[in-house]
Amino acid sequence: MTKVNTVLGPINTEDLGFTLMHEHLLCAFPNAYRDYPDILVPNALEYVITRLKQAKAEGVDTVVDLTTLDLGRDVLFIQEASRQSGVKVIACTGWWLDVPRFVSGIMGSVTVDQMAESFVREIDKGIGDTGIKPGILKSASDMGGVTPPQEIALRAVARAHLKTGVPIVIHSYHPGQVAKQQLDILKEEGVDFKYVKVDHCNDTTDVEYLTWILEQGCTMGLDRYPGRLVSPLARTKTLKALMVAGYGDKLCPSHDCLLSYVLPEGFTTEQYEVLNPHRILYLKKVVFPWLKEMGVAEGKINQLCVTGPRNFLEGK
Ligand SMILES: [Zn+2]
Repeated sequence: MTKVNTVLGPINTEDLGFTLMHEHLLCAFPNAYRDYPDILVPNALEYVITRLKQAKAEGVDTVVDLTTLDLGRDVLFIQEASRQSGVKVIACTGWWLDVPRFVSGIMGSVTVDQMAESFVREIDKGIGDTGIKPGILKSASDMGGVTPPQEIALRAVARAHLKTGVPIVIHSYHPGQVAKQQLDILKEEGVDFKYVKVDHCNDTTDVEYLTWILEQGCTMGLDRYPGRLVSPLARTKTLKALMVAGYGDKLCPSHDCLLSYVLPEGFTTEQYEVLNPHRILYLKKVVFPWLKEMGVAEGKINQLCVTGPRNFLEGK
């Protein structure tokens, strides 16, 4: 039995249920909801609670919120949304792409170990003075490959994982096969890849490359739906190909959906969301019916968001 921290306290992994492994309840910038609520979707908290309640009614039990501090992580917002909606939410620590002054400042940079200590403290004691503990570590690199500041954050995430056992998610850029660089660095740090989930993998249809990632022992986030660059249908054909190849229990489909966000002037949420009114139900409403049409057994489809997430969070 493995425990995982949610924003309402630890739960057993067997109680995770249907889990979306990569979403964002509020994604903007630090303190956005407290200090600049006027430029977010109106009544952001209520809006998110409504969306989560809809998801729960459709069978979504747990959501992993991969919003780091630099993306505007607000754990009190997340906790309240979880409490009022009844959806279990796992928050994260780590770092996304924004280069902080303490890494690039003229006085030099924090060290890997300094950053790792901050992540470990959040995992052990809680985020700020909230007592809310993250259940996952995140690091990110994108088009430019692993830049020097990102390497500091990635190694810090690796060392925090080695100290705490909390698993790692990496945001990556797959058209450039950036995951190979990230995994090399994690390997140097001594990380066992069964604790690593490589995210945004359905931004490519290169099944040979994706198979290579899975063969390293990683879990795979096929977590952009509907996404850009690659069509949702092409993403689903890739998902099916990996299931047919026998990797179904290492896959984690999700949406990378920003449930609340900065709303440009003149837009309503309905206008802004016209391309994806389903939001975090797009898998259930669109993708799963496609998989069924493609001949995948119904039991295997729903199990995608149960088995893969649980295996990963249990380090299997
Ligand atoms: Zn994301």
